[in-house]
Formats: sequence, structure tokens, C-alpha cells
Amino acid sequence: MPVDRKSYKQIVDELSEKNVTLVAVSKTKPVEDILELYELGHRDFGENYVKELVGKADLLPKDIRWHFIGHLQTNKVKLINSFVHLIHGVDSFKLLNEINKQGEKINKRINCLLQVHIAEEETKFGLDEKELDELFSNSMMQPLNYVRVIGLMGMASFTENMDKVKVEFIRLKKIFDKLSPSNPELIILSMGMSSDYKIAIEEGSTMVRIGSLLFGERNRKK
Ligand SMILES: *Cc1c(COP(=O)(O)O)cnc(C)c1O
Repeated sequence: MPVDRKSYKQIVDELSEKNVTLVAVSKTKPVEDILELYELGHRDFGENYVKELVGKADLLPKDIRWHFIGHLQTNKVKLINSFVHLIHGVDSFKLLNEINKQGEKINKRINCLLQVHIAEEETKFGLDEKELDELFSNSMMQPLNYVRVIGLMGMASFTENMDKVKVEFIRLKKIFDKLSPSNPELIILSMGMSSDYKIAIEEGSTMVRIGSLLFGERNRKK
């Protein structure tokens, strides 16, 4: 399926009005599709498998801002540290520590978002509110000079029930608003995908991650 340029332009217009950043989620899609959006001026792309990301980054223009949006295993941080623009799904202190270590090795401060568990499903990764509070209040992050935690990320439940999705986004925004006054470096709230980005924007998202609306449905899971 070709890239849906019309949707792309519509979404870009809609988002730029509200100062929301679009991460085009290109997972499972060929580099040709990415290049097509690149040539329209798009630079932010999201991938959720390390191997796939490394392979694509290798082939594509170096000014692409690569967002890692999947579940990152600690032993794989070293494969993406040098070029990744933003890691969205940091869901443990252990992982944050490892990113810090891999940042230090190459003297780069790596941008991260902490993933918050907002969905009901057990399967979605993320920190709960208590863990987040601990991270921020105990200054646990202070010694980590090679990570820059610049926001939060969340995924709503996989459901048709948009009222439920909305409630989950509202919860995440509330957590963000609670933390951001005392942590002014928190500027990004990454929430919203193809099916729910409109609700996410209404509820205060500053960054949406959209795949299938731009590139068509995917065959393999996720
Ligand atoms: C795949 C994925 C998306 C994009 O999903 P679409 O429904 O295709 O827009 C967004 N965020 C994450 C974390 C993903 O894994």
C-alpha cells in the first residue's frame, strides 16, 4: 500500500495548528515509504524494533530524527545510543541507568520519555504513578548526567471504547501537570496513535505517534 499523502497533509495541518509534533511510525514499512515522507519534508520517524531501526537508520539520510517507541531491552541500548533522537518507552530505573551508561560512553546526553502505565491491560509496559513519584521526589535521576528526561509517554487501552481511552489520557495529563511545575525540563507528552490521536490532542498531547493512517495497515503484529 502506498503512503497516504492526503492523510499526511491533513494530519500535519491539524497538528501544526496545535503545536503538536507528529512522529510517523514506520515500523514494518520499507525505506521507500520513509523516503517518500522525507521528501515531503518530514523528519521524525518512529520504530519499535531495535534491529529494524538500526538497519533503516543505516540506509536513510542522517538528518532523520529517530524515535524509539517500543519496549527497549537494556542489552540493546548500546545499539542505538549514538543516533537515537528520543527514547519514548523508558519503563524502569534500570533501563534509565543503562541509557545513562551508554550515553556516558559516547559523551552524549540521550533524550528520554518515561512511560506511564495508563491502560488497564497487564501487557502494556510502564511505570505506575507511585514509581514515577519516587523517581522524581528522591532525586534518583540527579546523578544521571547522560540522560535528559524531557517528558512522559503513555498508551491507552486497546479498545473501541473511546470514553475509556479519554479517561486514560486525562489521567496521564494530570500526572504530567502534577510533575511539570517542579520539573521544568518535562515538555513532551507523547500520547495518541492512529485510532485515538484526536482525543489525545484534545486532552493535551504534544506529540502523537501515527503509523497506519500514514502508511496503511501493517501485516505483522504491532
Ligand atoms: C505501532 C505503534 C504506534 C502507531 O500505531 P498506529 O495505530 O499504526 O498509528 C504508536 N505507538 C506505539 C508505541 C506503537 O508501537
